[in-house]
Amino acid sequence: MPPTTPNPANPPLPKAELHLHIEGTLEPELAFALAERNGVTLPYATEDALRRAYSFSDLQSFLNLYYALMAVLRTENDFADLAHAYLARAQAQGVRHAEIFFDPQAHTSRGVPLGTVVEGLTRALDTAGERYGITTRLIMCFLRDQSAESALATFEAARPYLDRITAVGLDSAEVGHPPSKFKEVYALAREAGLKCVAHAGEEGPPAYVWEALDVLGVDRVDHGVRCLEDPELVARLVADQVPLTVCPLSNVRLRVIDTMADHPLPAMLDAGLLVTVNSDDPAYFGGYADDNFTAVRDALDLDEETLRTLACNSFRASFLDEATREAYLKEVEAHGRG
Ligand SMILES: [Zn+2]
Repeated sequence: MPPTTPNPANPPLPKAELHLHIEGTLEPELAFALAERNGVTLPYATEDALRRAYSFSDLQSFLNLYYALMAVLRTENDFADLAHAYLARAQAQGVRHAEIFFDPQAHTSRGVPLGTVVEGLTRALDTAGERYGITTRLIMCFLRDQSAESALATFEAARPYLDRITAVGLDSAEVGHPPSKFKEVYALAREAGLKCVAHAGEEGPPAYVWEALDVLGVDRVDHGVRCLEDPELVARLVADQVPLTVCPLSNVRLRVIDTMADHPLPAMLDAGLLVTVNSDDPAYFGGYADDNFTAVRDALDLDEETLRTLACNSFRASFLDEATREAYLKEVEAHGRG
């Protein structure tokens, strides 16, 4: 996707992005530039050929490409460049706050030290306020298709960097890897004062959402769209106002739903769920944060007030301090009202 040019007459709604994998922001242009810088040969002759490869049909075929392309990320500079490219696009899409996932095991398994990843990302994120007007947090995710022992080793290796990490998360292939597998590492993360989130109820069943809540003690559920299959689960999520970070364009691309017009977002809002709209892996799924807002607005005929509710929800669901959250909520309230 080319960066969106902001239209000063009609700026995008201010919003927080809470479900964004930094590795999933790797656009073909940057992949080729980093491949050249690092002497890595990509299995695609041109950027166009690579872009065509981005038309996968399910989670596993997406993940195969996603991990293959990570070979170009090797140095602190690479990770800093990746984060800068995301922040520039996010700024153009009205993102004012971003809570950014990264997958340490996808890099340490290739011989890239965890410190290289964290130092490179934080170098860019430290400038985000000044350069892009965006506040940020970093969320370290465990790959659920790897072992519980590997997650524990990753957490121990990350201890020197925990002052730069706000939360832990759980991502990658969901089915067959229930949240309960990671009970121990989540307990350690909570002991260390970190917040907890987990992908659950995207391809996996509602039972995985229950486990994320009751076994891992998550503060937020990533995706969670399949909660609608279980009325008791919906009641629990509504009662506790547990935020769900929904990713509409991702859901369509990965065939979690057939078309955007079928998306359960309106039903989720009607049920009283604290729903937010996010971009997941925007380089691969056809759009960044505001592109997702536009896609649901157009396909589901959402009015301005509903979009404003979604924007407010994104700040309410964030890990921001109260004063900053209130300031952003006022920005949303004032937006477009002259
Ligand atoms: Zn995700």
